[in-house]
Amino acid sequence: MKSLLRITIALLAVSLTSAIPVTSAQQEMSPDPADLILRNGLIYTVDSTNTLTEAVAIRGGKFVFVGSNRDVNRYKGKQTKVIDLKGQFVLPGFNDNHVHLASAAQFLEFNIMRAATQSEFVARVRDVVARLPKGEWILGGFWGAYDQWAAGSAGGNRREAFSPDMRAVEAITKDHPMFIRKFDDSEFAANAAALRVVGIDPADPKVPATAGAGGEIRRQGTEPAGSKVEGVEFMRDSSGRFNGHLRGRGVTAIFAAVIPKKFSHERRVQQTRNALAEIRKYGVTNVSDMSDDEQLDIYRELLKTNELTVRVHFRPGLDRWQEMSDRRIAVGSGDEWIRLGALKGHIDGIMGTSTARFLQPYSNDPSNRGKWRPLMVDEKGNFVEGKFLKYMLDADHAGLQITVHAIGDEANNVLLNYLEELNRQNGVRDRRFRLVHAQVIAPDDFKRLGKLGVVAEVQPFHLSDDMRWMEERIGRERCKGAYAFKSIKDSGAVLCFGTDWPGTSASEYPINPMLGIYAAVSRQTLSGEPPGGWFPEQRISIEEAIRAYTYNTAYANFEEKTKGSIEVHKVADLVVLSRNLLQASPREILETRVVYTIVAGKVVYGL
Ligand SMILES: [Zn+2]
Repeated sequence: MKSLLRITIALLAVSLTSAIPVTSAQQEMSPDPADLILRNGLIYTVDSTNTLTEAVAIRGGKFVFVGSNRDVNRYKGKQTKVIDLKGQFVLPGFNDNHVHLASAAQFLEFNIMRAATQSEFVARVRDVVARLPKGEWILGGFWGAYDQWAAGSAGGNRREAFSPDMRAVEAITKDHPMFIRKFDDSEFAANAAALRVVGIDPADPKVPATAGAGGEIRRQGTEPAGSKVEGVEFMRDSSGRFNGHLRGRGVTAIFAAVIPKKFSHERRVQQTRNALAEIRKYGVTNVSDMSDDEQLDIYRELLKTNELTVRVHFRPGLDRWQEMSDRRIAVGSGDEWIRLGALKGHIDGIMGTSTARFLQPYSNDPSNRGKWRPLMVDEKGNFVEGKFLKYMLDADHAGLQITVHAIGDEANNVLLNYLEELNRQNGVRDRRFRLVHAQVIAPDDFKRLGKLGVVAEVQPFHLSDDMRWMEERIGRERCKGAYAFKSIKDSGAVLCFGTDWPGTSASEYPINPMLGIYAAVSRQTLSGEPPGGWFPEQRISIEEAIRAYTYNTAYANFEEKTKGSIEVHKVADLVVLSRNLLQASPREILETRVVYTIVAGKVVYGL
């Protein structure tokens, strides 16, 4: 025993002495000067041992040094910009595992989801009018959703339901037809310009219209004012005057015939620019996006003009595997800015509409177990054995990464079966199969997650939102496996975080990572309910939450060698925060602000 110890000490001494000349040689050589030095920080690197350090040096968009304030000085040259962090907290840039950027960009352009007063509504309209060329439609809206949210989370703290007053915006929207909707499509509102386009007289809407052949508007008959005609009801104020609001099944059909099928490319580029500003503001430096191909083109254009300030992992639909394969796209395709090689499929519905697929019926509806998505069924909606699996086998064989939306416990269970089948038929390899959302897992399936090397692509803020009605829908027992981040992690699966930005028409999931981190460590609503958290045994530590939002998403994208932690040779993407998250209470996490966002060594947000 003694001699073994002596040998160990001797070996240690050898390795220490041999290390010293190398270090001093490096110092003497004095490395090329850095472009940017950040010093005097509290830098949480998210390397394999969660090293805390003081300084970094960046050159050519990569970290060239990570270490002490003293040693970073070697990288200081005449042109080097130096930022004194004054003790502020630094993390690798946040890496969001799930966004719908095109929808988010459109949502940011105009929405009144959170509007509670007419003046807020008018301000939002004024804002979008200032940004749009004449003639462009104003669309979206989704009013009323936030009222519902507030009522649910704050518990009876409900204000008067808000409804937009179209007359308040008439004067400022003369050059813009405007057609907006309530969050649940139970009501719509149009301004005079939009009503005229569809042939409805704004002052006297007794003449409804429908689109004729070739898209032209044909007037139909005359009906008494205020009656329901062709599935359209014109709503009136207390004095009996039409107020621009419409109800009924016929409304969308009438407007769909005249609203442009898609936005102009210029408008989408502008929307994307605004979305990028939002992303920078929250310290997000990488997103995994599931938008359309035009969005991918826009990223490429903005990359050329140096306007792309977030790196993108891009996932087309699973049914497009052949096209990707023909274009020789596989895991690893693309570059550090725009990465391809993964596909996204869906197998079931969502909790919000009780269409997520469960092994047992919904607790509040014994006739319902949820629905399969089209790639699982035939035209009549009947389950087709092996249909979805075939897509997976083919895509996997082509070297593409498969990621699949699964919410209910049966959906997750079936996908794990399919993954086992992939291993059997295509052989075991490092697939990083992503269970997208992984919302409700059956008790027996947790151990399979780890065994199969699954990546759970979860969006923790969903839990803050959904916990209000989860138990009513699926009962307390099944809720034990819902958003069960601790059990997922403990199974050995890789847990990665994101947002699902912008959310649904009824709930907004902002791109702000603090909301998700807060939800994962507290398991509470934004107002702190319930005390102690919902199934608090599933809370995870702040260190685990940070890793899930940085390194683990890079791993999920097959990019952990170049992204996800602050280490030499990796891309220099980081965020400086107003607080030390390691010592922050849940409330303080929510209040934490981004001071700087740095992408590829450039300050893209902050001073
Ligand atoms: Zn989504």
